[in-house]
Amino acid sequence: MAKQEFKAESKRLLDMMINSIYTHKEIFLRELISNASDACDKRSYLALTDDSVGMSRQDFAISLSVDKVARTITVADNGIGMSQEDLENNLGVIAASGSYKFKQEVGADTKDTDVIGQFGVGFYSAFMIADHITVSSRKQGADNGYSWESDGAEGYSIEVCDKETVGTTITIHVKDDTEDEHYSDFLEDYKLQQLVRKYSDYIRFPIQMDVTKQ
Ligand code: ADP
Ligand code: MG
Repeated sequence: MAKQEFKAESKRLLDMMINSIYTHKEIFLRELISNASDACDKRSYLALTDDSVGMSRQDFAISLSVDKVARTITVADNGIGMSQEDLENNLGVIAASGSYKFKQEVGADTKDTDVIGQFGVGFYSAFMIADHITVSSRKQGADNGYSWESDGAEGYSIEVCDKETVGTTITIHVKDDTEDEHYSDFLEDYKLQQLVRKYSDYIRFPIQMDVTKQ
């Protein structure tokens, strides 16, 4: 598939987010974990009415791994997954985030460390620390998977890929360090463990962490 361009307003917002307003870069992990958890919730819910899913609540998990040499962080789930169309619609448009609205509607506590942090900016926040993101996903009921790739604001491409199991695997390639930002910190086990503890209190699925390839 040819490279698709983000919608104009998406591009503007993405540029802005990556380059300025976001001081708390670490929240990318909260966003990825909460998406993984939402996906597990959806598949688990579907399993109640659809026997072909063949999963129960305790079968779901989120896994996190780091490869320091490749400079990648991977967040994988065995949730509902995304079709080609889902990838297009959900990851191709920025600021469609529904999580903040949802939290307000259900009256959840949206108080956070700072004003910006209250917003569920979602998936795109990963571009604050990543220069390339690959999302491989296979939707419940689909025969094959699709992978979505992007270097950020310029656009994304989607193609068919091999994926054995239902769910989503997101691999982010962490930016090189600059004088001002030490992105490599996010590849340290202790740092990720600290962030998982900080941001996963409300997650009701196990988060498995497989770390350290020197
Ligand atoms: P929000 O979670 O607020 O809707 P995000 O930007 O975090 O916004 O995610 C956009 C959408 O992308 C989600 O609503 C969901 O449909 C889809 N998505 C993101 N991550 C996953 C995932 N791990 N599994 C399935 N769908 C996902
Ligand atoms: Mg989200």
